[in-house]
Amino acid sequence: MSSQPQSAAPDLSIPSYLNADNLGPWGNYLRQVDRVAPYLGSLSRWLETLKRPKRILIVDVPIELDNGTVAHFEGYRVQHNVSRGPGKGGVRYHQDVTLSEVMALSAWMSVKNAAVNVPYGGAKGGIRVDPRKLSRGELERVTRRYTSEIGIIIGPNTDIPAPDVNTNEQVMAWMMDTYSMNQGQTATGVVTGKPIALGGSLGRREATGRGVFVVGCEAARRTGLAIEGARVAVQGFGNVGGIAARLFQEAGSKIVAVQDHTGSLYKSTGMDAAALLEHVAKTGGVAGFTGADPLANDEFWTIETDVLIPAALENQITEKNAGKIRTKIIVEGANGPTTTAADDILHDKGVLVIPDVVANAGGVTVSYFEWVQDFSSFFWTEEEINQRLERVMREAFAAVWQVASEHNVSMRTAAFIVACKRILMARELRGLYP
Ligand code: NAD
Repeated sequence: MSSQPQSAAPDLSIPSYLNADNLGPWGNYLRQVDRVAPYLGSLSRWLETLKRPKRILIVDVPIELDNGTVAHFEGYRVQHNVSRGPGKGGVRYHQDVTLSEVMALSAWMSVKNAAVNVPYGGAKGGIRVDPRKLSRGELERVTRRYTSEIGIIIGPNTDIPAPDVNTNEQVMAWMMDTYSMNQGQTATGVVTGKPIALGGSLGRREATGRGVFVVGCEAARRTGLAIEGARVAVQGFGNVGGIAARLFQEAGSKIVAVQDHTGSLYKSTGMDAAALLEHVAKTGGVAGFTGADPLANDEFWTIETDVLIPAALENQITEKNAGKIRTKIIVEGANGPTTTAADDILHDKGVLVIPDVVANAGGVTVSYFEWVQDFSSFFWTEEEINQRLERVMREAFAAVWQVASEHNVSMRTAAFIVACKRILMARELRGLYP
């Protein structure tokens, strides 16, 4: 330990959990923000705001298990920035959830919401729990206790949770009910991603995959690539990857390679995405699908394609496989699928990467529509929702494309520039209280 001079002065150093040396997701986020600093002009005086979450809540979530014992889980809700509107972001249930991860995800929500210009700040929540080890009753009790504990900072006008990894419409229904019971009135707008019968929105389930498709088409159009006949590979054939694949195929593209946690598939003439979706719904994965040939998992990344869609997990494209990737456009359906080192390799190879904060923002955009519909108690048709979603995604893509061309930077840096300028402009206009 270094010997610090003894002093009565207050310790103004940055708390350790905010440290830039943090190697976890929060450290990654800080490095991304630093890349943007030179482009912010006079707004850079507010940049420190983005390096400190506004509010961090850590809660104990005790529940009685079915066997009569009591278990304690650690839960988090982080509101990163609320300069542009209430906090907004999902809740993740996973045994590896950490504060660093939730902080980074909340910050990326601030950036995403600003990049697509929906009037929200960024927030995220999580519980360190393996939901597969809980019965349905235990899952409900965890959800209700967690919601009660974070109830002091969430609300339709303050912070609006949504589903994320391992949470779904049912979890949102329990959260909505718990919050409403505590308030003494039904508050449908406190969460989004609810079942349709409880104020959910048409089109929400497909929204992220549809957004991936829309920005993929925009990227293709601007680089002179025809979507019809384009070779597409998709990692992750769940909600995001499966829907995106189906839409690309309907537009005439060929789904030549697919990978999920059960295996990889290849078919040079393109596989039937709708039939594969049915197979996955029945069996739980792509393995065993007879409409394509099995492929070694490592080879998936080397297949020559026009569009590659990582739509599974974080950190899938790293310095280990980025050099082998042979594609023209990467559309990030997943959050954080590309490491910073891989980003640089892809940039040098001339691969156009459409970053997650734009590419997968379709979900939060239709969440915003759901919240608006809940407030007005007037619900739109699916056609209206899809049209509005397409417009938001196209406008976001265009704004980021323009900044990328202007400054000759990657689409990721450009998205951060657009988003950080919007957030910091709001901060400047509001001024500091008091
Ligand atoms: P999902 O659970 O429906 O699908 C996940 C897919 O990833 C599955 O096909 C699974 O088999 C695959 N997968 C898991 N582990 C894998 C591995 N080791 N190798 C290859 N494939 C693997 O989840 P989803 O909702 O489609 O989310 C996918 C990604 O998109 C996540 O990063 C999520 O954060 C992000 N995202 C989702 C939404 C949304 O609205 N669903 C919105 C924004 C971002």
